Amino acid sequence: MTGRVDPRLQAWLEFYDELGFTPQLRRPAQSVPPTHATTAPLIEEALLSPKAPGKGKADKNTAPISAAVQDSAWAQPGSLFEEGSGSKPGESLEDIRTDLGECTRCKLHKGRMTIVYGSGNPKADLVFVGEGPGADEDMQGLPFVGRAGKLLTKWIESMDMTRDEVYICNVIKCRPPGNRAPEKDEVQTCSPFLYRQLDSIRPKLICCLGATALQALLGKNVAIGKMRGQFMDYRGAKMVPLYHPAYLLRPHPPKVDRELKQDLQKIRDFVNS
Ligand code: URA
Repeated sequence: MTGRVDPRLQAWLEFYDELGFTPQLRRPAQSVPPTHATTAPLIEEALLSPKAPGKGKADKNTAPISAAVQDSAWAQPGSLFEEGSGSKPGESLEDIRTDLGECTRCKLHKGRMTIVYGSGNPKADLVFVGEGPGADEDMQGLPFVGRAGKLLTKWIESMDMTRDEVYICNVIKCRPPGNRAPEKDEVQTCSPFLYRQLDSIRPKLICCLGATALQALLGKNVAIGKMRGQFMDYRGAKMVPLYHPAYLLRPHPPKVDRELKQDLQKIRDFVNS
């Protein structure tokens, strides 16, 4: 390729590179994403200001659980150690990791380099749940260490927290080939370990990153754009869906930046309350 590359095309190329794909461009470069799209301005800038309110302060930004969500059949309050979850009262994250072992329960074990179990504070108030490991995570054995992970770190820091204070994990623990979306049987096989992790940590808030994680946790096909920012009851904690950082790395409408900023403020205020 010669000459200047459209920055929006560049963002797409980097995104697919991040996912481990080599995009096959079938059309000449005049077909570009919609003109309203922006790339990720949030990568470089601090998101939240002014500073977070002190702990214990009631805050108007903490949204009540929306009536639509509360009324829906799947938003059951849920409880820890519910039947079928496999959780054992008092089990630690290490116990669960030991049980997971060198897992061969699903086909993903064949292509993985490392099991990406999760990292952070075993007593975290805030847990982030992503989809599954990508190439960087598979190599390092840690969640969210690639480009999307760096953006997630900025989001966490913009809420006046550190990665060590929160816990970060994924629905599936092994990288799918070519970073494809996890398949149903893989999610079904792996998610009991996620539930046990959540039950062991007992966080105040579970933040679900992106549609795949949201759908895996709820067992329903739900649109992240509709659900984001809405707090709901989940396994004895609150859960809130948030855009996946990888989405913010791609060209996206400017309103997505505004929505993300609002959601991060709500999360910060809820955790501090
Ligand atoms: N995306 C995810 O969903 N999880 C990771 O660990 C990294 C990227």
